[in-house]
Amino acid sequence: MRKFKTESKKLLDLMINSIYTNREIFLRELISNASDAVDKLYFRSLVDETVSINRADLAITVAFDGNGRTVTVSDNGIGMSKDDLDKNLGTIAHSDSFEFKADQAKNTPGEEKGLDDMTDVDIIGQFGVGFYSAFMVGKKVQVVSKAYGSDEGWMWESDGVDGYDLKPAQRETHGTDVIVYLKDNTDDESYDTFATEMGLKNLIKRYSNYVRYPIQMEVTKT
Ligand code: ADP
Ligand code: MG
Repeated sequence: MRKFKTESKKLLDLMINSIYTNREIFLRELISNASDAVDKLYFRSLVDETVSINRADLAITVAFDGNGRTVTVSDNGIGMSKDDLDKNLGTIAHSDSFEFKADQAKNTPGEEKGLDDMTDVDIIGQFGVGFYSAFMVGKKVQVVSKAYGSDEGWMWESDGVDGYDLKPAQRETHGTDVIVYLKDNTDDESYDTFATEMGLKNLIKRYSNYVRYPIQMEVTKT
């Protein structure tokens, strides 16, 4: 097992243990990552003539399986290689905006807040909370990805505790599936906002205003 870097571990603990409200934002974060990934591939196709893609084919899918209790966000964007998965999902500080803003917060006179002192509202307000927010609702997250131009698929898998595994995996085309295995706390009311077909549909409707690509929804009937 590969260990999370310290920054990631800190943020992960913070998110899982102190942010109980607005947990449904994990979907916004995963959709925004999917949209970024599709953008990256599209822009590459503009500057690299060996990359030929049809803009109309670029899309994001959210799949809900009520039996398996999973929410999956898929894109056919740029995808990630094994190294990309390791680098991008192994450390949160890799998103440079995180270190930058945490430093800024620490160095603002009169407002000496380090990462440890920040409240959940600070965190949500100052950062996009990013990929790790999936662990607010997920007991396990799998990321299956194939980088554009590669013929190797890889899976990153973690229970969000202190590390992750990387192993070869099958994926037909380039792009990424993020599979969130929902936690079992069904007694929680806020659960309806993201762990039901209706809840997810409403969230998708809300977020699709900010995304340039079509978001499809697939439901496995229970
Ligand atoms: P941010 O989006 O602010 O960079 P995230 O925590 O949301 O931070 O994501 C971390 C990184 O993981 C991204 O910068 C990107 O490199 C990679 N990533 C996440 N999701 C995807 C995806 N669906 N396709 C390709 N890369 C992704
Ligand atoms: Mg992001």
